[in-house]
Amino acid sequence: MVTGIGPMAELKKAVFLDRDDTLIHDPGYLSDPEKVNPIEGAGEALRRLRSAGYLLFLFTNQSGIGRGYYELADAEACNRELERRLGLDPGFDGICIAPERPDEPLVYRKPSPRYILETMRERGLDPSEVWMVGDRDSDIEAGRRAGVRCARICPENHSGEEGSFSSVQAYTDWLLGSQSRSQK
Ligand SMILES: [Mg+2]
Repeated sequence: MVTGIGPMAELKKAVFLDRDDTLIHDPGYLSDPEKVNPIEGAGEALRRLRSAGYLLFLFTNQSGIGRGYYELADAEACNRELERRLGLDPGFDGICIAPERPDEPLVYRKPSPRYILETMRERGLDPSEVWMVGDRDSDIEAGRRAGVRCARICPENHSGEEGSFSSVQAYTDWLLGSQSRSQK
């Protein structure tokens, strides 16, 4: 492990993760913990990221709350089940559930970078070692606006384009592999 000397050594690295179609198969407006279905390899990938020193934050748009389809407590129950099924114990280092509908003023809803910016400040994160990982334009835009690095998950049409990966597992292989290469 590389360690530094001086104030920069205090800054932490982190990965912000979208939930639906990034960590789990999205059934649409998920509100039932029984239907939480992780994408294969996601749990192992997160545990490897954590072992490598990354804090893990879940950042999920849940307009179903704003639309009145389900309650915040339902989304929280699904997230607890997600942590359990991913084998993440302790769970995520932080979770943001953005409840706004797309037609409402955005506070935390991606592409708003607010959660990332607030968390970077509160937790002392190094922007050059912070990632936003997700499958949609709004995920990537939130990361760009926050000034962090971005990775897009495209399971269906993975083109091999730089910064895009077929899964969180493939992203993790690349990130941890490229780090061990750069340390040699
Ligand atoms: Mg998504």
